[in-house]
Amino acid sequence: MKAVQYRTVGAAPEVVEIEKPEPKPGEIRLKVTAAGVCHSDIAVMSWSAEQLTFPLPLTLGHEGAGVVDKLGEGVRNVAVGESVAVYGPWGCGRCSKCQQGKENYCLEAARLGIYPPGLGNPGAIAEYMIVDDARHLMPLGDLDPVRTVPLTDAGLTPYHAIKRSLPKLVPGSTAVVFGTGGLGHVGIQLLRALTPARVIALDVNDEKLRLAKEVGAHEAVLSDENAVENVRKLTPGGRGAEAVFDFVGVPPTVKASGACAMIEGDVTIVGIGGGSLEVGFGLQAYETVVTSPYWGSRSEMGETFDLARAGAVDVHIETYALDEAPKAYERLHDGKVQGRAVILP
Ligand code: NAD
Ligand code: ZN
Repeated sequence: MKAVQYRTVGAAPEVVEIEKPEPKPGEIRLKVTAAGVCHSDIAVMSWSAEQLTFPLPLTLGHEGAGVVDKLGEGVRNVAVGESVAVYGPWGCGRCSKCQQGKENYCLEAARLGIYPPGLGNPGAIAEYMIVDDARHLMPLGDLDPVRTVPLTDAGLTPYHAIKRSLPKLVPGSTAVVFGTGGLGHVGIQLLRALTPARVIALDVNDEKLRLAKEVGAHEAVLSDENAVENVRKLTPGGRGAEAVFDFVGVPPTVKASGACAMIEGDVTIVGIGGGSLEVGFGLQAYETVVTSPYWGSRSEMGETFDLARAGAVDVHIETYALDEAPKAYERLHDGKVQGRAVILP
């Protein structure tokens, strides 16, 4: 079968021919219908050999959807032909976090060497993929896999981040979103669906800001050296925002995120861009809560899908054939993708 692999540290991803995988006992094989392309893969492909926590080659793709194609021995309650999406942050399924469906925070994954598909295990940018356990399959029903597959990460991750701040996003409040790409453009829609907050979105060019407005941002602001001042001007009395979500995570956006937050505000750093924030008395507004979450729980993925079913989120996608996946990564790296790139194997 064809797959898209990261094979050599520092090199571009390659389309390769590999053996079609067989599901072992308890595993499920999917015929992949759609796979999303996430900026985290670009972060992984920028790491040195020492920073990589898993061996290469790696079949990429941690946003996956497919049709159940073959069941490993002992798999029950899953039907061949069923359309499903894959919950990616696999855990042990047994620790106290996994018991709550928070497999993204599994306490045993590192010790047991459990990796998400596309981030250690073979991923979804291939004709077929193996899923380790039936509990990681979310039935799609009537949802279109191509438009829904980004919700497994670009929807779930902002959903989890935003849910934490809901108590602060009351009428009259402000939410700020840095980065209106794959995660950010869904984040804006989630904020509009879940909160009465005024949403201010920031990105680096007009095309991105146009998409931000189109998906529901009240204000779209250029992310430049005047960003903090311009955001604050848009908040009552210049007080700042109740919640700031940084879907870029580079040093300037993390710094600006901290400076946009008001007293008792939340700063949530989702982007993996090496930015850091100094916290200490007088360095941030009083009682600012700074956090950096990872992905989301299984139940939150179900909630994200229910929002899509209700028509509250609509992912903007660019589609590519499997052979074109390297080009999709190149465009994402260059900031040219509008919404999410989705590969159709
Ligand atoms: P993306 O490339 O689709 O979107 C990033 C956006 O940020 C782009 O629109 C880009 O123009 C914009 N941007 C770049 N520099 C900016 C700046 N200085 N100010 C404002 N906007 C700027 O990427 P994505 O797939 O949405 O991922 C976003 C980030 O989130 C990445 O760092 C990714 O690795 C990370 N991520 C984290 C998690 C997690 O669990 N914490 C999960 C998924 C992705
Ligand atoms: Zn991701």
